[in-house]
Amino acid sequence: MEEPSKHPDNTSPQPPGPTRPVLIAGGGFGGLYTALALASRRHHPPILLVEPQERFLFLPLLYELLSGELRGWEVAPRYDTLLASRGVAWLRDRITHVDATASCVSTEQGRELTYSRLVIATGSRGTSYGIPGVEELAIPFRSLADVERLQELVKHLRSRPRPLQRLALVGAGPSGVELACKLADLLGGSTVIELIEQGADLLPQARAFNREQARSALLRRDIRLRTHTKVLGLEPGRLELALTAGQQDGSHETLPVDGVIWTAGVTVAPPPITPAALLDGRGRLLCEPSLELEQTPGVFALGDVAHSADADGAALAATAQVAFQQADCLADNLLRSLEGEPLQPFHWNDLGEMISLGIGEASLTGLGLTLAGPAAYRIRQLTYLSRLPGLPHQLRVAAGWLSDLGSPLRSPR
Ligand SMILES: Cc1cc2nc3c(=O)[nH]c(=O)nc-3n(C[C@H](O)[C@H](O)[C@H](O)COP(=O)(O)OP(=O)(O)OC[C@H]3O[C@@H](n4cnc5c(N)ncnc54)[C@H](O)[C@@H]3O)c2cc1C
Repeated sequence: MEEPSKHPDNTSPQPPGPTRPVLIAGGGFGGLYTALALASRRHHPPILLVEPQERFLFLPLLYELLSGELRGWEVAPRYDTLLASRGVAWLRDRITHVDATASCVSTEQGRELTYSRLVIATGSRGTSYGIPGVEELAIPFRSLADVERLQELVKHLRSRPRPLQRLALVGAGPSGVELACKLADLLGGSTVIELIEQGADLLPQARAFNREQARSALLRRDIRLRTHTKVLGLEPGRLELALTAGQQDGSHETLPVDGVIWTAGVTVAPPPITPAALLDGRGRLLCEPSLELEQTPGVFALGDVAHSADADGAALAATAQVAFQQADCLADNLLRSLEGEPLQPFHWNDLGEMISLGIGEASLTGLGLTLAGPAAYRIRQLTYLSRLPGLPHQLRVAAGWLSDLGSPLRSPR
């Protein structure tokens, strides 16, 4: 499985010693699924996953964790449980620098780790775009801690309802829309919800059917969608807004709020690489079709941190579906690279899109299916069941769901 030890020039990766692992930085959709796919191949090389968090987070189901429709261990299984006896070593640490010439990474805890091949799968994170008050006062929605903060806020708003108490969600992309619907169902009419979007419409990238289903889900819940509205700043108890179109273009408004949830915008920050790797305009690592970095042999990237293109040359979206598909192709290419064989290009297969629209409801389009409502919710859940990491975890979750059959949806918090 080791590659031949000849490297004609010093830009090639160092010849791996017998114990140098394939090192994977980041255990999200890209990194964890690459590790599992590689570990499932016969005669795989040693695999080391470096990930600072204790639990993998299945982000598309974070809304169901908030609402209590799913349990913590289902949506956020521990890495030590997921990887037990799977042939993947896990190090709880964070990569801080990559020396691609020496085939070595540095970590936050002061380690120096050598690798035979490196996979960068460090994902993306939210950004406040530097808007005053957002970092300090708004609640993001990407982590277990964020879910807990929101559950506390929901409890608080439900327990002492005041007239005209108001929550603002900023960003009418999938996260903002899905979260607004779940929150409206959880708050049960106790709180006005405003969904604020600086663009012209909600879900600009979505299929028309899903967008229309989302629009009517918002209407049914009395969620007010404000488009062409820009957030200028956030202070305790109020949001400063500017309208950017229509008769009131340029006018400002102060909106009293009892909480602000920020789902607008993501950014990427891969660990710095020496010699510097090529980045696109958004800071993503430029990849060959094989997912190997352009001009940095031996280093691969996938998921949100990678700029890889579809057959028409357009950059692929930052979605779990893309990262999940890339992982399988990358596992093959890591083996090919170690064997000195030609690498295969990644081919993206668009399987459609699904969005949750409140408790027990969803909308989906793809593979010839267009469906909304409770049936779509069930299909979405079953689809994600088949995408959960590793068969043992899928079976544990399926067993839990089967034992829940016949009982009503788990009650919201
Ligand atoms: C709330 C929410 C809902 C979503 N819903 C959907 C959906 O329904 N469908 C869909 O297709 N996509 C969805 N997405 C997007 C999807 O989750 C991402 O596209 C996907 O997670 C990208 O996978 P990734 O591996 O690139 O990054 P991630 O899954 O974010 O994983 C990155 C990992 O890298 C780790 N890490 C970061 N820096 C370092 C470092 N320096 N060293 C080591 N480890 C590091 C992080 O801790 C993290 O575990 C959603 C995203 C969010 C936030």
